[in-house]
Amino acid sequence: MVHCSPFVVSFKKRYPWVQLAGHAGNFQAGENGKLLKKYCECEQQCLEKLMNDILRPFVPGYYGIVQQNDQDYNLMDDLLTDFDSPSIMDCKMGSRTYLEEELVKARERPRLRKDMYEKMVAVDPGAPSPEERAQQAVLKPRYMQWRETLSSTATLGFRIEGIRADGTCNTSFKKTKQKEQVMKALRDFVDGNTQLLRSYLQRLEELRSALETSELFRTHEVVGSSLLFVHDASGLARVWMIDFGKTVPLPPPQTLDHRTPWAEGNREDGYLWGLDNLIEIFGGMLQD
Ligand code: ATP
Ligand code: MG
Ligand code: MG
Repeated sequence: MVHCSPFVVSFKKRYPWVQLAGHAGNFQAGENGKLLKKYCECEQQCLEKLMNDILRPFVPGYYGIVQQNDQDYNLMDDLLTDFDSPSIMDCKMGSRTYLEEELVKARERPRLRKDMYEKMVAVDPGAPSPEERAQQAVLKPRYMQWRETLSSTATLGFRIEGIRADGTCNTSFKKTKQKEQVMKALRDFVDGNTQLLRSYLQRLEELRSALETSELFRTHEVVGSSLLFVHDASGLARVWMIDFGKTVPLPPPQTLDHRTPWAEGNREDGYLWGLDNLIEIFGGMLQD
């Protein structure tokens, strides 16, 4: 016979951890509200520096490298622990999502890629040029640049990677490009709640001020990093920066303003330009 303790119900029910993007095998649950993400040196160095930067309140706390089953992980705060059945959104920031060095590498040994041509045609049969059509293949740099024009990455400086609301995850935003489409997704995410919009807007403005004075931000190319939006029915709403696998230091004394349009060689990533647009969109939604 099983004895049910009446005290069990008084424990707060832990909601299963939710991952909106990235590879499923990259994360493990840790103890005491912590999370293990598969080790990446670039991310480790960035998280370490962030712990001593003005951006610290806007990133998960970082606790160093741990090993589990012969695999190294970066140990960080699970940002969902203070929430009950949270709604979550991952917005990938910036006007491009590959590093300049990735583009250079892709060009080193130019190879015609059939697989990329096929992916391209599957999304947009009109995308390949006559020459690409004749070859039934594209070059990787061309594919990388084309991919950014599908979503709002190239036009707004951010894109929605995934949203979890009402218990269901939606990651089908790859072609969410127009401002109106983005607004609809955001409105659905907050379920029309203007108080939530206000809280998010305030947090985004605080983040922007911190970014504009951050030493780390000024001296790094920040690519493929996301803002994680989290709220729940209590009205608690927060935004954090996550994913620093492609946040790389610039050779001193180079710095970025993160708003100047990208021209190859200047390493600008459009992060703040995207945040300006996101803030303008949230502000506009409050006026509707
Ligand atoms: P990719 O590079 O493809 O975007 P990744 O493997 O680098 O993915 P992240 O982007 O860091 O992984 O995280 C993937 C998802 O995991 C996020 O969208 C978010 O849902 C969740 N996640 C990541 N870090 C945290 C955290 N500290 N707390 C809570 N959830 C997190
Ligand atoms: Mg990510
Ligand atoms: Mg990543």
